[in-house]
Amino acid sequence: MIEMREAIDRVLASTKPIDCTQVSLMDALGHTLSEDVVSDINMPPFEKATMDGYAVVGADVSGASAENPVALNVIEEVQAGVVPQKTVVSGQATQIMTGAPMPDGADTVVMVEETERVDGVVSILDSVSPGTNRVPLGEDVRKGQVVLKARTALRPPEIGILGAVGFDTVPVYRRPVVGVVATGDEIVEPHVRPEPGQIRNSNGYSMATQVVRAGATPRYLGIATDDVEDLRRVMTEGIEECDVLLLSGGVSAGVYDLVQGVMTELGVEVRFDRIRMKPGKPLTFGVRGQKLIFGLPGNPVSSVVGLELLVRPALKKMQGLDDLHRPRVRATLDEPFRQAPGREQYVPAASRFEKGQWRTCWVGHHGSADLFSMWEANSLFVVDAEATSVDAGEEVDLVLLTDW
Ligand code: AMP
Ligand code: MG
Repeated sequence: MIEMREAIDRVLASTKPIDCTQVSLMDALGHTLSEDVVSDINMPPFEKATMDGYAVVGADVSGASAENPVALNVIEEVQAGVVPQKTVVSGQATQIMTGAPMPDGADTVVMVEETERVDGVVSILDSVSPGTNRVPLGEDVRKGQVVLKARTALRPPEIGILGAVGFDTVPVYRRPVVGVVATGDEIVEPHVRPEPGQIRNSNGYSMATQVVRAGATPRYLGIATDDVEDLRRVMTEGIEECDVLLLSGGVSAGVYDLVQGVMTELGVEVRFDRIRMKPGKPLTFGVRGQKLIFGLPGNPVSSVVGLELLVRPALKKMQGLDDLHRPRVRATLDEPFRQAPGREQYVPAASRFEKGQWRTCWVGHHGSADLFSMWEANSLFVVDAEATSVDAGEEVDLVLLTDW
């Protein structure tokens, strides 16, 4: 039996970034960039006006006021998307719109609110210092500059940046394909009304959707019975066709807990099979080549927690990310919590940020089989293995699952 920290280290030590691919810009959200991205243009690509008004020679207007307006002849009108044809010289102005290129000769834009127009003549009613209300070419980005680094997670702003620098397809790490198998003679699919002794499959679906949340692609492989041949068939398929294989159930010490035996038979090197943690002590992890195989406990809460804490970081690492773990904060306990010491415990909790601090409360589950209390949980608080109780008002570590 090993500590949780050691289990995470062993999983990550066995995990390498996956191969790369190209996706279209619209599909790139949530992927990780696999190469540095260089701008093919200056941004802005031309010197442009940032206000609606008049482009002028700055020296002409630096002394203007309402009492002493400066009158200029308007020679042209340019809107965004149009290239000015005329050069502005002293005594002249070009009417210009926000985003339009500055005409040659002009270095300043006077806001329309500070002018008065009569036919072809505009009066400037306020002094403006030269250079105002325009941005120079390349102020934001220079051509050839790296605008996004490899291993960046793509969020909406990065998608916008990629568009601005001309990427309609994007080099990214491939999403890992994760096989999902539920095991157990008693397990039936959701559309079935369970006969006496049967249980509906919840884990297959929570696991597959947790995989989606981790940025990977689930491949649901169905239910395997507690039978060596059936397990061998589905595990062979899963290991061959997927990057990662997740199984739920069949990893404790019972007569029909056959998963680890079949893993070994199929050439999987088991790296650990028990973690000093609660919920979910029996958790088998092994590798075959680059493939990762996880035998998660059958209890629904144990399966959910084990996947979040151990499988998710591995899936993130495969996608080239450096930031692998859920955020952790310190939080104050609302109610006292008691436990039998011996294993580090991750307690499903409802937490909120209130008056400048995180507060957390156990969601009162009846044991690791009680998935129904999990709907309220947005976090897990951590209780040390040696502790027998934590009092109300004491601080604990809190793993945030707020984007579930
Ligand atoms: P096991 O780890 O196979 O001994 O299963 C532990 C408990 O979890 C048993 O009560 C199972 O019925 C339950 N269980 C196992 N697999 C699932 C599943 N896919 N969905 C819901 N409950 C399950
Ligand atoms: Mg079972």
